[in-house]
Amino acid sequence: MATFADSPALDFARIEHPAPTDAATRAAAIADPGFGKVFTDHMVSIDWDEGTGWHNATLCPRGPIALDPAASVLHYAQEIFEGMKAYRLDDGSMALFRPDQNAQRFNDSARRLAMPEIPEELFIEAVRQVVTADADWFPQVEGGSLYIRPFMFANEPFLGVRPAKQYKFLVILSPAGNYFKSGAPAVSIWVSSDYTRAAPGGTGAAKCGGNYAASLVPQAEAIAKGHDQVVFLDAVERKWIEELGGMNLFFVFDDGSIITPPLSGTILPGITRNSLLTLARDEGLNIREERYSLDQWREDAGSGRLTETFACGTAAVVTPVGKVAGKDGEFTIGGGGPGQMTSKLRERLVSIQRGGAADRHGWVMRLG
Ligand SMILES: *Cc1c(COP(=O)(O)O)cnc(C)c1O
Repeated sequence: MATFADSPALDFARIEHPAPTDAATRAAAIADPGFGKVFTDHMVSIDWDEGTGWHNATLCPRGPIALDPAASVLHYAQEIFEGMKAYRLDDGSMALFRPDQNAQRFNDSARRLAMPEIPEELFIEAVRQVVTADADWFPQVEGGSLYIRPFMFANEPFLGVRPAKQYKFLVILSPAGNYFKSGAPAVSIWVSSDYTRAAPGGTGAAKCGGNYAASLVPQAEAIAKGHDQVVFLDAVERKWIEELGGMNLFFVFDDGSIITPPLSGTILPGITRNSLLTLARDEGLNIREERYSLDQWREDAGSGRLTETFACGTAAVVTPVGKVAGKDGEFTIGGGGPGQMTSKLRERLVSIQRGGAADRHGWVMRLG
């Protein structure tokens, strides 16, 4: 049994798949995969307990996991996850984008949820193992990728309220097409006035399932009102724009300047957000991390000072926001479609991710 408690030896056991998906079935499954519905043949599983640390690293067939009904995740929600993608480079090889950032954020989330940290090399190696094993599942569709979902949960059977002493880390893969339904060039968003996503001192900066559970009612409200996504305001003043349920926001002005809300502890520190900040600064653009209020947003959209708004995240990359609605009515941004800056920044980022543009910051990690 491999132990990673002290030194991260990268020794994975491999359990052969007894009946891998045949090529024709796989081809049909990934022809139009959508998002989050199709899964590959393998997963990586690694266990942690208080005495042993990380052990039992295994690349194995993907399948149901046995859980004791008292497993603490089912009662107190000690669960965190990451979302990342393997990209196909223009030369045909595969690559990860800034996987070290996902590993570090995973450990930031782990500390907030009182869970054990996983060595960065072990996290990346786990991802590499399963992506390499299921490389044939890469969807050959426009904008296609292998979406990677690393996650960890408490599986100790114990109903007392304290950090668990036993956890499981898994990595599964989902071939993905475009995140949003095709034909939606810009999204319409609903400003939630009844609900907030995160409060100061809470878990807003951690990527934990609980944040998403709390966002489902406001998200459903947005859909019921005819919009695509919900945007949250800060929990204290109910005034400052924070982010969408799963994406960060940027605002573009007619003088070419850009702002995005600062990482105050209630916003998820997106890796796409950070990459776009870096790329915009590389270009010499005036980009600032600054609070921006809903009232100002409405006023600036009306006066034309604000020309674009876009949301960003790994799943959907960069998505223009065309329309905003809330209890005080609605407003349109720019022409209601994708703006120039949005398209330019999206293009810059995507071409680095696909190996088309120079990787000046060492963000692309080639797989074999
Ligand atoms: C994951 C996530 C993001 C985007 O982060 P990326 O690293 O860019 O994918 C933004 N907001 C929330 C709430 C998230 O969970």
